[in-house]
Formats: sequence, structure tokens, C-alpha cells
Amino acid sequence: MASRVEKKLLNLMGRASKEFALLEPNDRVMVCVSGGKDSFAMLNLLRTLIRRLPFSVELIAVNLDQKQPGFPVEVLPNYFEAEGYDYRVIERDTYSVVTDKIEEGKTYCSLCSRLRRGILYSVAVELGCTKIALGHHREDAIETLLLNLFYSGQIKAMPPRLRSDDGRNVVIRPLIYCAEADIAAFAEEQAFPIIPCNLCGSQENLKRKQVRQLIETLHADNDKVKGNLFASLSHVRATHLMDPLLRSVMGLDDARGRDEGLDAIGASGDIDDCGLSLHG
Ligand code: SF4
Repeated sequence: MASRVEKKLLNLMGRASKEFALLEPNDRVMVCVSGGKDSFAMLNLLRTLIRRLPFSVELIAVNLDQKQPGFPVEVLPNYFEAEGYDYRVIERDTYSVVTDKIEEGKTYCSLCSRLRRGILYSVAVELGCTKIALGHHREDAIETLLLNLFYSGQIKAMPPRLRSDDGRNVVIRPLIYCAEADIAAFAEEQAFPIIPCNLCGSQENLKRKQVRQLIETLHADNDKVKGNLFASLSHVRATHLMDPLLRSVMGLDDARGRDEGLDAIGASGDIDDCGLSLHG
């Protein structure tokens, strides 16, 4: 019998799948399992979800053993076997590459993720998979949105479904509507054999940490903050942005709309806080 949190997560995963066509007839989905709570939860929930679909979808769990010192190699195979998952463990020593290329004290994550992504894309093709499932959730999406705004001058986050740059793969994020706290509660309930994520000795990306802290601080003050940030990803007011391509494709130059900038100028002519309103 499914617990309350499991039902909630399954509903959200089902909704995302329906809205973005994440699971389609005869899909063979490569589920990337790192050994963290999110990927364990994704694999478990996907298995339950596909049993309820009116069409057939195959799952294959894939773990990339990156040869980090101390990585407990037996944990995931034992789990996959015990649970009856079809699986592959791929061994590639990316750890030596990043430690060789990156100065000590600097974070390895960016190069490590790039290498991992390239390997997983190739493995998906070799295994004949139609989709690659990643375990990113709501908080990952909003942190990425703010990181891109602050540090790369772009409005973008994590799409639920995207064809990869090289065109060979479709990446999906079935947990995209799920809150991290619910996933953590589910992982605890299921007692997944979680592998700690600091084996590589890398510092977590400092900017992501700061952005996460900022979101948590604002959310503690107003518990709608996370929901609003996430909702903003589906409520883009293109008329109120300045992207030339978007404006030309959508024919926005003569579009009508209320100018919030004017609303936000008080009697003194100063811009007040309204100018920061999330929904404009
Ligand atoms: S924490 Fe370690 S394994 Fe994870 S992305 Fe960063 S460098 Fe790679």
C-alpha cells in the first residue's frame, strides 16, 4: 500500500509525464542512478508508474562508476539484483581526469559533470535507449534558474524534456514537479542504500550553495517563494522581456499589455518594490 508521500510523488510524476510526453509507447528509458536519494526515488517511482500505463515502457538502471576513491562498488548492483531491475554498471575513471586537470582546492563538479554527460549519452545510444532519465527535482530547477540569472545573464532553467545538443538523445526529468523534502521523506521511508555524494572530495559548487541558501532564507520569510519561482517557469510573459528573437518569432512588438514599469514608479518617480513582483 503506497504511503501518502509516495502517492503525492507518483501523482506529480504522472502529471509531468503526461504534460511533457516523458514516457511514450515502447520507450526504453535509461535511468541514471548515482546512488543519491533522488535517483533511487526516481527509479522506484518510475517502476510503479510504468506498471500503471496503458502502454509498454522498459527501464534500464545505469550507474556510472567514476572510480572515486572509496566508492562502494557492490551497493548498487546488490540493490538492483535484489529489486529485480535490469541494470548496467559502466566503469570510467573520470576521477583521475578531473584531479589531474583541476587545481587542488577548486571544485571538480563542472568538468566531472561534463565528462559524465558525454559518457552517459554514448551509453544510451549503445543500449538502444530512447530516453535518458535524470533525477532533478523542483529545487534543482529553481536554483538553476537563479544561477543562470545571476551568473550567466540568461533566463533558463531545467526543462522536463530536451533533445541533447548532439541530437542523439532525449533527456527527461520525471521528478521535475516534486519537492526535494518529499523525495527525502520517501527515500527515508524506503530505506534506500544511499551512497554519500562527497566521495570525490570536491567542494560543492559555492555559488549553488549560496543560491540555495538565499532561496531558503526568502522561503522562511514567505512560504510561497519556492512555488512562485517554480511557477514562473511556466508563466513567461514574453511581452515583458527583451529577447529580440523571441519578440520577432512571436510578433510581440505591437502586442498589448500593461506596463508594470510605469505602475512601479511611485509619486516621487522612484521605482518601488513592485518592480520586483514575480508575476509582473
Ligand atoms: S560532487 Fe564529485 S562526483 Fe559529483 S559532480 Fe562534483 S566532482 Fe563529480
